[in-house]
Amino acid sequence: MKKRIAILGSTGSIGCQALQVMEEQKEQFELEVITANENAELLIRQATDHLPNAVVIANESKYTFVRDSLSQLPIKVFAGEESLSQVVEMESIDMVLTALVGFSGLFPTVSAMQAGKQIALANKETLVVAGDYITRLAEEMNTLILPVDSEHSAIFQCLLGEDPGSLEKIYLTASGGPFRKRPMESLEHVTREEALKHPNWNMGDKITIDSASLMNKGLEAIEARWLFNLRPEQIEVIVHPQSIIHSIVQFVDGSMKAQMGLPDMKMPILYALSFPERKRTASPRFSFADYPTLSFEAADTKKFRNLALSFEAMKKGGNWPCALNAANEVAVEAFLAGRIGFMTMPDIIEKTMKRCDFIPDPDLEDYKKTDQESRMFAKSMIK
Ligand code: MG
Repeated sequence: MKKRIAILGSTGSIGCQALQVMEEQKEQFELEVITANENAELLIRQATDHLPNAVVIANESKYTFVRDSLSQLPIKVFAGEESLSQVVEMESIDMVLTALVGFSGLFPTVSAMQAGKQIALANKETLVVAGDYITRLAEEMNTLILPVDSEHSAIFQCLLGEDPGSLEKIYLTASGGPFRKRPMESLEHVTREEALKHPNWNMGDKITIDSASLMNKGLEAIEARWLFNLRPEQIEVIVHPQSIIHSIVQFVDGSMKAQMGLPDMKMPILYALSFPERKRTASPRFSFADYPTLSFEAADTKKFRNLALSFEAMKKGGNWPCALNAANEVAVEAFLAGRIGFMTMPDIIEKTMKRCDFIPDPDLEDYKKTDQESRMFAKSMIK
């Protein structure tokens, strides 16, 4: 039996790589659904090449274009944000890969879980915003959430066969991004292009900026907290510029396990899609000659304040991580548009978070409201 997959956000970096993975493992997977937010052209091309049962274009104004372009093919076409949440409930789907960017991933993920689907989670913001709610729902629905993020895939793999009670702490590895060696004073004037030049990973714009500011690692810490049921003090970030060790777990006896491999997202994507099996691939293998040294250093939270703010939000809990995430989405967009400097991002995030009305035990509606209000407030700080 082939595993039947829906990819939410198929035109993004993870979505495109997932389609390649599925193409290379044709006998394992069947593509049921692909969805895109804006990029109708690429969605149409993907649908023509991979022939899913259905496609969704979230931007409704592009519906006619997509429908007409695919009219000769046996593919159902839907449009609108709500269709995203409906399409994941289709009976023919076994697993939903959530590769949407940002807060928009939350509600379709909830729908997929409520419909009893397995989740391959690439949208870390879902757990950042509503980790408490999502993990409770996962328990209730007996949902398996398989992490796609390379660090979390690493931790997941290291923990297989271990008693959860024997875990002492985790080390999340971070490349350090393109500004690891730049002095703090020079960061005020870095350009969009410099920030988009990630040393090791090839990713979408939003996550690449998050990697340059180390916000990505902060979001990943919150994601890990929920995925592996950790206390904030059990999570430590360590900079590892080569991105070969994807993360490390440490047990109560002091023993440590690390998972390593070349920095290639297709590996954790395939692992999540095919778990509990491992599939053979022809991807390039690690060569020790290419990496004679693996190095480690502490993360600089004075220079990269977003990392410190994320830990603060994680420790406070409630709706603070939701406010942090909303402000960050606004700040990154404004930075990419050239409207604010790199070092203004943490200012906006901190002010938004500290202004938000704290709700210790938020429900889904509270998250929605916190997200909206925080976005509004963050935007009001951008000229
Ligand atoms: Mg990652």
